[in-house]
Formats: sequence, C-alpha cells, structure tokens
Amino acid sequence: MSDDAFELPTKYRELADQARQVAKQVIPFAERADESDHFDPDVRQILADSGLVTVTVPERFGGRWAEVDSLAVTVVREQLAFESAHADSIFCMQGIGSYALAQAGHPEVQDHWLPRVARLDAVAALGLTEPDVGSDLRSITTVIETDGDNLRINGHKSFITNAGDADFYTMLGKETIDGQEQYSLVLVPADAPGVTVNQPHQIIAPHVLGDVVMQDVVVPSSHRIGEPGKGFGLVLATLSTFRVSVAGAAVGVAQAALEEATRHAAGREQFGVPLARLGGVPAQLAQSWADIEMARALTYRAAAASARDARGNLYLSSLAKAGATEAAGRVVDRCVQVMGRFGITRGTKIERLYREARPLRIYEGATEVIYDSLAKDLVRKVVG
Ligand SMILES: Cc1cc2nc3c(=O)[nH]c(=O)nc-3n(C[C@H](O)[C@H](O)[C@H](O)COP(=O)(O)OP(=O)(O)OC[C@H]3O[C@@H](n4cnc5c(N)ncnc54)[C@H](O)[C@@H]3O)c2cc1C
Repeated sequence: MSDDAFELPTKYRELADQARQVAKQVIPFAERADESDHFDPDVRQILADSGLVTVTVPERFGGRWAEVDSLAVTVVREQLAFESAHADSIFCMQGIGSYALAQAGHPEVQDHWLPRVARLDAVAALGLTEPDVGSDLRSITTVIETDGDNLRINGHKSFITNAGDADFYTMLGKETIDGQEQYSLVLVPADAPGVTVNQPHQIIAPHVLGDVVMQDVVVPSSHRIGEPGKGFGLVLATLSTFRVSVAGAAVGVAQAALEEATRHAAGREQFGVPLARLGGVPAQLAQSWADIEMARALTYRAAAASARDARGNLYLSSLAKAGATEAAGRVVDRCVQVMGRFGITRGTKIERLYREARPLRIYEGATEVIYDSLAKDLVRKVVG
C-alpha cells in the first residue's frame, strides 16, 4: 500500500522547503536573535524578504492563500523553530495578532493594516493576559466603553508577545452591553495617546515580551473588531486556528535537540566507545526519535483537520499541542542528559533549545488546562 495518505500534499512540502531555506538564512543571527527582547533587524529583514509571512494573512489582504491555513502555519513553524525561536515567534504572531481583524474588522481598518502585516511592514500583537489573569480569561479587568463615536479603553495587559515592537494590539476587554458585562475586541494602535509599554519580565528563553498599559486610550469606533460582546468567539477562532502550530514549533525544537545530541553522542568516546553505544544512551536517542515521529504524525493530522474546520477539530489541535509540547520537553531533557556537562553549558545550542522548549507547555493553553477540557470532551464522547 502506498504511504501517500501519510505524506504532506505537494503545496505544503514546497512551503516547508521554502521555510527550511529561510531558516538556514537565519542561522548566522539565530543565537543573537533568540537572546533578544526586541526584534532582531536581520531576522526581520530575512523574513520580510522571503514573503513567508503572507501565509498568515488571507489573500484578499495581500496574503498567500485564500484563507489562513493551520497546516501551512504549522509546517512553517516547524522549520523556523528548528533554527530560531525568534524567527518562529515573529512569523506566527503576525497571524495570531491579526486573525480577528482579518475575520471581523472594519474594512478601512483591515485595508490599512493587513497588507502591511503580510509584508511585515507592521507588527501585530494579541493582548489577553493581565497581571492577575492568565488561564481564567473571563476574569479580565480591561474595560472598553463607548464614548460618542469613539471607544475608550482602560486596562493593563501583561506578557504580551511583541510589546514594544508591535504597531498595533488586538485587545480583549470587558464591555457593559444592555446592563450585562460581556467581552469585546478592539484594535489599539501602539502610538495611540495613553498607551505605554514596558518590559518588566525576563524569561528563561528571551522573547519579545512586555506589559501594555492603556490609560484613557481613545480610538474611533471603527477600531472595534467584531460585534460588541462577541470578542470571546473571535479569540476562540484565533486560538483554534493557531493552537496546533505550537505543536509544529515543538516538533522543530525537539528535532533540532535530537540532532545535536546524536552528533555529540556519535562523536564523543568514553570507555573506548562512542557515547551512542554506551549504557542507556542509545535508548534515550531512539526513544526521543519515537516521541518526535509520533508527535509529528499527530501534529500534521490535527493541523490538516484544523485547516478544514478549526473549531470543529479543536480537540485534535489540543491533543497535538499538549502532546507535542510535552514530548518536546521530554526530548530536550534527555538530549541534555546525553550531552552531559556540554548539555548544560551556557551559550550552546542545546542549552538554548532546552530553554526554548519550556514556554511552549505554558502559552496558548497550559498543558493541564488543555487536558482538563479534553477530559471533559472525552467523558461526553464516551459516556454521553
Ligand atoms: C513566551 C510567552 C508568550 C506569551 N505571549 C502572550 C501574548 O502574546 N498575549 C497574551 O495575552 N498572553 C501571552 N502569554 C501569556 C500566556 O497566555 C499565559 O502564560 C497562559 O495563559 C497561562 O497563564 P498563567 O501563566 O497566568 O498561568 P496560570 O493561569 O496562573 O496557571 C498556572 C498553572 O496552573 C495550572 N492551571 C491553571 N488553570 C488550570 C485549570 N483550569 N485546570 C488545570 N490546571 C490549571 C496549570 O498547570 C498552569 O500552568 C505569553 C506567555 C509566555 C510564557
């Protein structure tokens, strides 16, 4: 029997090849970029010149394909994350920060921003998290109020990727509609009066990350994204489309770590034989290989299902996100162990990969939050 059913279709293989070439161009800058908390100009330029970011925006706004496609985003992330978390983050955030605008923004605001997002002339960001609110997003305190023909926003968003380099933020806030508190989305330009950004947090795998405080920020009502009170649906649509791509990044990071550890274990001898033949080392390498292949298979399957129907197949994306990021955690840990003291030496690629694998299990749905909701789905499916 042919294994065609388990291969990526040609257009995705070609896209992956292109992303691999772009990732290779990033190599000379990867170490510097991955330790930076601002956009690396060389990595940004390489990505902009490559046109890869067009994958994150629909064609009608200058994007590559008719709609943003989870499988396309996922295969690109796998290739970019193999070389650089920074390149991967710049790429995917253009989609994550602009998806709601592309789906439900005002036409003038879409035309103003989205072609620039596709060219990487403008940088997008998504603001959900607050200092006291992470997984429990319904507890956010950012307030959106109507003020004549304008919207007024007050709030504090925290741990926002691209804060400081973003040109606009898609912000989730609470809005009182017919006496009831609901959730709405609004586009806040970074240069709007009342917006201040600071970067109080340094994480173990540096990331362009910051807090955005909005104090009496006023934007035209055309900056509303979607219907009043329908913000959560758009956030869910964004997360449904992009969640599985985190699994792609996890597979890329794990693959890179395994190749580092394998080269090391084949090249270094102890007790007169290569490490790759000693004690538990062969099993650690092979187990990691099995973990990666299983993670990749589920990731591609989930991403293909998500490309057809992101909301309907969110359970598969969630299984892939949690499964692949946890697998990457196990793989990088084993790889460090295989490399002994060279695995924990600062400034080495494996040490960087070890740190870069860690946030994947926390953002866009921490593993335990995802498992909690998957278990509820499972019980409903099995027991009714
Ligand atoms: C690198 C990075 C980039 C980020 N970028 C952005 C961004 O661009 N925009 C943005 O809005 N946010 C961003 N975040 C924030 C991210 O979305 C939150 O970290 C995430 O939602 C988890 O929230 P928390 O860290 O506050 O953890 P908490 O919500 O405090 O949870 C802590 C732990 O408690 C457990 N837990 C919590 N709830 C449950 C539950 N229901 N069931 C079982 N266990 C549970 C989990 O183990 C979880 O890891 C980013 C974070 C990181 C690390």
